[in-house]
Amino acid sequence: NTNSESLPFRAETRQLLNILIHSLYTDHEIFLRELISNASDALTRMNFEMLTNREILDPEAELGIWITTDPAARTLTIRDTGIGLTRSEMEENLGTIAHSGAKAFMQAAKNQESADLSNIIGQFGVGFYSVFMVADKVEVASHSFNKSEPSAEWVSDGQETYSIHEYDKPDRGTKITVYLKEDAAEFTDENRIRQLIKRHSDYVAFPIYVGTSTEQVNRQTALWRQNSQQISVQDANEFYKQFTMDQKEPLTYTHLAVDAPVQAYALLYIPAVAEHYLYTPRKQDGLRLYARKVLIQDYFRDLLPEYLRFIQGVVDSEDLPLNISRETIQSNRLLMQLKKLVTSKTIDMIRKLSEEKPDTYIEFWNLFGRYLKEGVASDFADYDNLVPLLRFHSLHHPTDLISLETYLSERRPGQQQIYYLLGEDEHSVVHSPHLDVVRQRNLDVLLLTDPLDSFMLLALKQYKDIPLVNVSDRDADLGEAAQPSDQQTQPVSEEVKTNLISRFSAQLGSKVAEVRTSDRLIESPARLVDTENSPAQEIQRVYQLMNQ
Ligand code: ADP
Ligand code: MG
Repeated sequence: NTNSESLPFRAETRQLLNILIHSLYTDHEIFLRELISNASDALTRMNFEMLTNREILDPEAELGIWITTDPAARTLTIRDTGIGLTRSEMEENLGTIAHSGAKAFMQAAKNQESADLSNIIGQFGVGFYSVFMVADKVEVASHSFNKSEPSAEWVSDGQETYSIHEYDKPDRGTKITVYLKEDAAEFTDENRIRQLIKRHSDYVAFPIYVGTSTEQVNRQTALWRQNSQQISVQDANEFYKQFTMDQKEPLTYTHLAVDAPVQAYALLYIPAVAEHYLYTPRKQDGLRLYARKVLIQDYFRDLLPEYLRFIQGVVDSEDLPLNISRETIQSNRLLMQLKKLVTSKTIDMIRKLSEEKPDTYIEFWNLFGRYLKEGVASDFADYDNLVPLLRFHSLHHPTDLISLETYLSERRPGQQQIYYLLGEDEHSVVHSPHLDVVRQRNLDVLLLTDPLDSFMLLALKQYKDIPLVNVSDRDADLGEAAQPSDQQTQPVSEEVKTNLISRFSAQLGSKVAEVRTSDRLIESPARLVDTENSPAQEIQRVYQLMNQ
């Protein structure tokens, strides 16, 4: 057949296949989740295409997924009415690793023993190729939604090559036939398949049918469209796990259901890991946006300010036009209102976490605190709500984290400033000579060692009208010294002072502007302060960071 061609897999793909086939990984069942997820993606894209395109194949076909098995032939087939694949798309998408999870997996594979790797396969979305953990041979027959494209079939045993040939498949979508290995015969059991769908694919947004039954197996609920009271924590967390394929439960979530000024539902989550996209199919930041149950965008970034990009979830609104496009967002009043709602709901969720679960909040802070600092620095609108959420290490609290409120409540009598000290790391900060007099007066000082702290300080100038002051500032007002009685200080003569200053000046030359005596030092011999007209330290640091 001249229309059949045999092509080699890309080297990277061969390597992945090799690992998948030979690994000791036992959770082979995830292949079904991956195939269903691809079918669901194809249906989502079809749904979207149908909004604007009338010229499609089988416009009336139900959007769904059908799974059948044949125990005698030891096969399993999964069919969808999604967007389909053209011949060249088969070559492009099934011959190479497209999946970011698979790429991340291959990165890890380079650094690890393959025996260990088998344990982490499940954490990565390894995509289509995971089918070769259970299959000797796979056939992918498909007809694109595009009427002018002929149907075709892709076949491979998952070894070195695959082939593509002409194939008559009149109806739209993709049908994958999996020739199961002997030890994978369990996947011809319909009940086993139903059980797997419930476990891994319950929230897939299209109906999944098994065998000849017309009853859909997955619950397919848009969980976010229910009443808050009806949504159990288990259901919310389970949805999160299926949605992100994150193995860990989220730190917390919130449910939004409003009618005004915009009708909207949302489920918003704080993940328990910071690098969600490395190991999971959520490849980018952004929320999944539905308008009237149709998926508009999978990674919609304009519903939250930039600094809240770590939030995961779905937003669904009846009011949004289906043809919303990138260009219209800034000018779309409804979207602006929706963004306001989603943002304030998110900040509220973070605030609640800080009040109700302080321990979890510390976990949150360690993962995402930097994002809130970024918000304080960059988002004027949310500033007042974010500042109380900030946490700090301080001289008096070197290991725990305190809020500005706690700092204020522990002030010394008469203390009129909130003190901080910037530094490279905790060690150098606590040994700073600037702290001599602070320690003596028993003042607490916020220790700011994160590069983002400097940015934050550009906006954070005061809290409840009490100014934040750098203790290393030459003019920091550290109040009156409680005259220490037990300290035997010998008065130093003016002559000794003058001599010392001229020796320092001679040694340091033009490296310093001036050498002076100081009453701020107790244990340390010297300290460095900025000259009168130099920019504040946080500004110097920001310049440094930006020039790196
Ligand atoms: P990913 O789903 O992350 O893109 P996969 O390895 O799971 O990666 O799938 C590779 C590609 O194969 C998909 O991006 C898609 O283009 C194509 N594909 C797989 N299954 C289907 C399907 N049922 N319908 C249409 N295209 C599909
Ligand atoms: Mg996939």
